[in-house]
Amino acid sequence: MQNTNPHAVLLASPGMGHFIPAVELGKRLATHHGFDVTVFVVAADASITESPLFKPPRTPNPLNLVLLPPVDISTHVDSTASVVTQLVIMMREALPLLRAAISAMKYHPTTLIVDMFGTEALAIAEEFDMLKYVFITSTAWFLAVTVHFPYIDEEAEHQHRVMKMPLDIPGCRSLRYEDTLDLFLDQTDRNLFSAFARVGMEISNADGILVNTWQDLEPLTLRALENEKFLGQVMKASVYPVGPLVRPIGQSSKSEVMDWLDVQPTESVIYVSFGSGGTLSVKQTSELAWGLELSQHRFIWVVRPPVDGDASANFFNVTNSHDGTPSYLPNGFYTRIRNRGMVVPMWAPQTEILAHKSIGGFFSHCGWNSTLESMVNGVPMVAWPLYAEQQMNAAMLAEELEVAVRPKIQPNAGVIEREEIAGMVRRVMELKGNEMRDKVKELQRSANQALMQGGSSYNSLSRVSKECELKLHRLSAMALG
Ligand code: UDP
Repeated sequence: MQNTNPHAVLLASPGMGHFIPAVELGKRLATHHGFDVTVFVVAADASITESPLFKPPRTPNPLNLVLLPPVDISTHVDSTASVVTQLVIMMREALPLLRAAISAMKYHPTTLIVDMFGTEALAIAEEFDMLKYVFITSTAWFLAVTVHFPYIDEEAEHQHRVMKMPLDIPGCRSLRYEDTLDLFLDQTDRNLFSAFARVGMEISNADGILVNTWQDLEPLTLRALENEKFLGQVMKASVYPVGPLVRPIGQSSKSEVMDWLDVQPTESVIYVSFGSGGTLSVKQTSELAWGLELSQHRFIWVVRPPVDGDASANFFNVTNSHDGTPSYLPNGFYTRIRNRGMVVPMWAPQTEILAHKSIGGFFSHCGWNSTLESMVNGVPMVAWPLYAEQQMNAAMLAEELEVAVRPKIQPNAGVIEREEIAGMVRRVMELKGNEMRDKVKELQRSANQALMQGGSSYNSLSRVSKECELKLHRLSAMALG
């Protein structure tokens, strides 16, 4: 049976970095393009339902948000497997649950949209005669690397992986070894390597690829992806830049940290956070604390207990000294930074913080959602990439867009000392700050324009919407015989 609106089913893989943009895409499809939307969420456990995103909003909810029953992957991989391997297995195990949920729907959905970890579910879209899209929650440049990857020959792979030479991507900025993806650096895990190649092929066979970027942010890469040569050889799907889709500010943002920000001078505070999963070593955490202190700038730091390789267990038995400073931070830190710094354990209301007028910089791990949140608020960055494609994001921010400074060595290649950290904070907050701020405010304006009715991202999503409406009409005509 058919509904009168196209119905999009979105599948979000585990992790806030995938869940948040999936929800935002769903909301946009529902509120601007007349879709019915169901977002299926795969999670390791049910704790994600504690997220405010799962709480019923005060305004009518445009989405149907459904947590699929948590999947158990312990019989398939051990807990030391890479995060990517675990994600791939979790998504595979969730496939029967997705199939059953779609099959039980009263109205036949027209469209399946998965993120890059959900590409095996595209076969389910075919079973149910649905259009199939992939939503890349990162840059067009990352998409170009991913779809090009299965087609690089052994020689090029050897040159990049072993000889540490740049990897050429047709028509795009080449990928320097120092900025490359984790899986190129890991010389041992061939499974990861082949899983990534499979994903690259599956993405290019979708009906379309939505990317959380916008035309004016990555014009050259987007043009390269549209180029006959790139498409002809590698990719069959059209690319739709639909971003930046970021979480809006919550309705009630009263908290200690927001109260503190309210009384700080305009653009005087640097916000320090490494996303939902980023963790630093013991030594690096201590150097960062000293660096922030040395910089003499105001800061908010979302702190997690440090982890050194696998020797992490004891660090969760944190003790606090007399002024409340946890044992993994320098002794007396809380006393010395009082009035100037605020430490928030584990999680902070990031979108609200970045939108606050007192914020003048963002010290970030360069996860793509965090990066977009910084751009749409016109905030320059200290780029401190940790894993996944974050080095690529950092390179683009610092060298191409010139809205960030970067440390001299990669944060995961050694400890960055306090003097360098203090220097980077000063460059963003004082020395290079105005120059970078002007550039990032220009990006903020172009992001807003892209999303407005008639803007490039709005129009991209309208094109997707047209395809889905056509599909709906075809399905309806078939149902009527
Ligand atoms: N986030 C937050 N508070 C925190 C840490 C993260 O609200 O203390 C949100 C952040 O605003 C962003 C998402 O979690 O929307 C993290 O996504 P990102 O792609 O930046 O990084 P990931 O967590 O995937 O590495």
